This record gives sequence, structure tokens and C-alpha cells, in this order.
Amino acid sequence: MLYRDLADFMNGCGYIIGGQWYPRVTSIISIKAKPALLKFYADAESYSHALSTTKQSASEGTKIHNAVEAILKNETPEQNPEILPAVNAFNDFLNMHSVNTKEGAIEKRIWSNTHHFAGTIDILAEVDGLFGVLDVKTSSGIWRDYNLQTSAYMGALQEDETWEDLPKKPVDHRWILRIDQKQICTLCGATKRTKGGRETIKTNRNNSASEKCQHEWSEVRGEWELKALDGFEKDYDAFLGAKKLWEWENEQWLRQIGY
Ligand SMILES: [Zn+2]
Repeated sequence: MLYRDLADFMNGCGYIIGGQWYPRVTSIISIKAKPALLKFYADAESYSHALSTTKQSASEGTKIHNAVEAILKNETPEQNPEILPAVNAFNDFLNMHSVNTKEGAIEKRIWSNTHHFAGTIDILAEVDGLFGVLDVKTSSGIWRDYNLQTSAYMGALQEDETWEDLPKKPVDHRWILRIDQKQICTLCGATKRTKGGRETIKTNRNNSASEKCQHEWSEVRGEWELKALDGFEKDYDAFLGAKKLWEWENEQWLRQIGY
């Protein structure tokens, strides 16, 4: 990443908390290579097209996050037909699992004084009686990178258990709640996912007719998947390793900050 000046770097990569600058978890994690992205760029019409797809898909993700957070705060989410299937999927999830949270535990800023980083967690909650970090993703899968991100959040929360909004309990669980929406071919079971204006069709591997099928798509359906992540120590070690590399990469800026 290239930054215009120090202010651009500080805004783009961190937060100021109590007069101190902390690098952001998501910025630190971006140091890790993402091989799947190469294929995405290679398949794209052009680089600028790929960027606009990413941007639009991020804005769709933000809308879903906002709706989820509104529901958890007992507010009425924005009625947007584009994301309605995903919102319905989230309500479905809430019907099957107990989620206990409070307004101040949603979109909560967290930081580590020991390791010096900061972030914003989606939801700190009790899920089916266990307490921890619930991170919402609107992706087509649950990728391993999420382990790094959520381990950082959990590490910071374990250090500083001073939150006031929820009963003080050890934060020792992490979950990814994946919410997505897609269409299914009524003939062959292939799926079509439209994200950021880009369609991705996955043929049904269990159906040999799927490759040549003239698909007939269903209405858009929401889906959800909850995954508990284990192996915190190993993930947190890897995150702190990524942070070392990130600091090395950004040494010239960090020196100016007096980091
Ligand atoms: Zn089909």
C-alpha cells in the first residue's frame, strides 16, 4: 500500500485512542498474501473493474452488518430488498441459537496495551451460554484468515476485561457467523452468487448434467453458518508474527510516529 503522507498512513492503518495511535487489526492482517485474490484479478475484465466489484461488494457487506446490528439492538433494520434474504437468514439463526448481547458490546472498539494494536469487533456476546467474540462475514466461505483477525480481538479482550455493558466473564470463545445469499438452479442444483455486480456460478459436482445445464434460477435465498474457532494460542502467535512483519514493512512511517 502506498500512502500520500503520514496523516494518510495514520488514518488508513490505525486508530487514535486516548491520544495514542494504535495500528488496526485488519491493516496488520493485510500483510498476509491472499492467493485466491490473484485468481479474482485474473478472471476480472480489468483491474479497475475488479476494484469496483470489491468496493460494491464491501458496501453490500456493510449493509448486511448494519441490519444485523440494528436487529441485535432491537431497532428496525433498513428495509432493503437487496439484502432481505440475508437478513431473513440472520433472523433464522437467532431463532435457532440464543444470543445475549448489549448495545455497547456491538461494534465495540478494543485494543491491546501489551501488544499495541486496536480493532472494532462486530459483537461481544453470550452465544448458547458461552461468552466470546462473534464476527459476522458475508463471504462464500469461512477462510482461515478469520482465525488471525478474531484471535487478535480475543487477545485484546482477555487483557482488558473492563467492559461495563456485559457481565464480566472470561472471553474464551470465537465464532464466525457467515451470512450469504444465493440462487439455486431448480434443474441441477448449481448455485449462483451475485456480489458487487459480479455473478459466480458453481456447478453441482454431484450432478454430471450440471456442466451443460441451461440453469433455471430460484429466487435469491439466504443462508447462514456458525463456526466455532479453536486453537486460539496458535492463531494469536501467528497474528503477532504478522504484526512483526507489518511493522517491518511500515518502518519508515512508524518511526515518524514515534511508535
Ligand atoms: Zn442447472
